[in-house]
Amino acid sequence: MPAYKRVLLKLSGEALMGDDAFGINPITIDSMVKEIADVVNSGVQLAIVIGGGNIFRGVAGGAAGMDRATADYMGMLATMMNSLALQDALRQKGVEARVQSALRMDQVVEPYIRPRAIRALSEGKVVIFAAGTGNPFFTTDTAAALRGAEMGVEIVLKATKVDGIYSADPMKDPTATLYKTMTFDEAIIKNLQVMDATAFALCRDRKLPIKVFSILKPGALMRVVQGESEGTLVHV
Ligand code: UDP
Repeated sequence: MPAYKRVLLKLSGEALMGDDAFGINPITIDSMVKEIADVVNSGVQLAIVIGGGNIFRGVAGGAAGMDRATADYMGMLATMMNSLALQDALRQKGVEARVQSALRMDQVVEPYIRPRAIRALSEGKVVIFAAGTGNPFFTTDTAAALRGAEMGVEIVLKATKVDGIYSADPMKDPTATLYKTMTFDEAIIKNLQVMDATAFALCRDRKLPIKVFSILKPGALMRVVQGESEGTLVHV
């Protein structure tokens, strides 16, 4: 039995990359979509925000001398590619999915319209929010917090490559332990980079819990939506 009625899943662009150095790996996206399909078929309403880091990040363009806002718009376009790839992969698995974009691209996807997104979710369709917040200088983590709050989700699921928040970097320190739960204040005091500061502040203000878990662990997404012990829960 799912523990939640409506959730928002934040996938980083890198999650689509698999072991490749760049872009979208078909095997990786296929296995991810299977996990997403299981969750949707269990009756959970699912909104998704996807990043673009596997293709382009504004900060990299900025560092290379580009105008930062222009580079950020390119980053947002990267999230559009990932969103379309995810929508297509979901549809091929029989999961109804639609993309709504924060930047207009009318020939390709519908624009972000909050009531339409809510209605689609209520009908059991997956809604993928493309182009982040639509504003440069923000991230898709912030888009996840924002759209999550707007959609009235019960929790933001932050999918990462690590299976939660550790007391130290588990790659470097073998004594590092996994936190099962943590308050927003603890995460701030410990200066943990759960999400970027803007996203984190928005979730804390809205009392919107965040679950950090590994998307690479088979079945983890399903266990998370069933409220089982998995990853780290950040709460008020
Ligand atoms: N971006 C932006 N505004 C937003 C969301 C994203 O400008 O509201 C740009 C920004 O340049 C960012 C890129 O899109 O680097 C890709 O998003 P992000 O880095 O969050 O992707 P992820 O790290 O999750 O793959």
